[in-house]
Amino acid sequence: MAIEKDIVVIGGGQAGLAAGWYLLRAAQDFVILDDGHGPGGAWRHGWDSLRLFSPAGYSSLPGWQMPQPDHAGFPTRDDVIAYLTAYEARYALPVERPVTVRTISRAEDGRLHVESDRGSWLAGTVIAATGTWRNPFIPAIPGRESFGGVQLHSAHYVSADTLAGKNVLVVGGGNSGAQIHAEVSLVANSTWVTQTPPAFLPDDVDGRVLFERATAHHRGNATDVPAGGFGSIVMVPPVRDARDRGALASVPMFERMTLEGVIWPDGRRASVDAIIWCTGFRAALDCLDGLQVVGIDGKVAVDARGMALAEPRLWLLGYGDWTGFASATLIGCGRMARETVRAIAA
Ligand code: FAD
Repeated sequence: MAIEKDIVVIGGGQAGLAAGWYLLRAAQDFVILDDGHGPGGAWRHGWDSLRLFSPAGYSSLPGWQMPQPDHAGFPTRDDVIAYLTAYEARYALPVERPVTVRTISRAEDGRLHVESDRGSWLAGTVIAATGTWRNPFIPAIPGRESFGGVQLHSAHYVSADTLAGKNVLVVGGGNSGAQIHAEVSLVANSTWVTQTPPAFLPDDVDGRVLFERATAHHRGNATDVPAGGFGSIVMVPPVRDARDRGALASVPMFERMTLEGVIWPDGRRASVDAIIWCTGFRAALDCLDGLQVVGIDGKVAVDARGMALAEPRLWLLGYGDWTGFASATLIGCGRMARETVRAIAA
């Protein structure tokens, strides 16, 4: 027997919790289904040394600010997990876990049928907030399957411990690549590989400044765009340290992979033990396959409030700017959750 709920939220990470907070305030009948083994969403899988780009006050969900950590510097991965755990408990959000939603289909009575490994639900509305962590992206490189060394996506990187003394390539010119290369270069022969030269922000620009400037830009009244744009590398202390010891140079992408390593554009061969792909993520939308709303770009066409154009009972939240400006950040997902819930309740 399917359980009836007006609204089912899939995913209990930061976006799902922000939606939950507004749904509670709007006195909606809802449940949040999450397949994590505890609270925290993708933060549960962040690497050991991961820290936020912003202070706690700039990394908060609606209703309750993240407490200041009891250490110097910005909040750590564990601080965020502790905050999301306490947030869920504080508002007694109705999260059920671990529940893995496998498919969503259109029921004959006009509702959506949500099927999971722990039963099924019938809902008038579904909010997908499944994040991106389950869908790491690695670019197609000739010979990748033949490589005999270790390949790891940043999604599964934990620490540099197992890499000591090895020849390592860290691929990717974003913040993950910079931070992981900075850490690995302390213990291994690490080479940072980027498709285009990385753009570094000034030392005094952190996530707070970026968010304010990006907000101004979004509203059309930007006055100062930081050098390198908005997606550039934040000079967190480990990255600054790597720069100061001369370890932050990058090289252009290799052309192919072999059993032993890689071949560089000038034809030189390099022997490589491990490659860490810091090449981003795509939205994790497998469970929507049955609705046939996911385009070839891996996204769902949505309106400004997050409603799927091809399925008005489905809403998407938290995946990136295509589901609302800054909606993939702690501070930004609340704003979009408010708009989404307001529209659903109306
Ligand atoms: P998630 O946190 O991934 O939560 C989705 C949840 O849904 C998960 O628990 C997942 O298990 C569950 N789920 C997925 N599919 C199903 C299913 N079929 N059935 C049931 N449950 C399912 N953001 C900031 O604001 N500040 C930062 O400084 C910052 N730094 C970052 C640094 C790095 C290196 C990375 C990678 C990200 C960073 N982020 C930062 C972004 C942030 O971590 C993610 O964008 C955020 O976790 C996304 O939240 P979410 O709720 O959308 O998804």
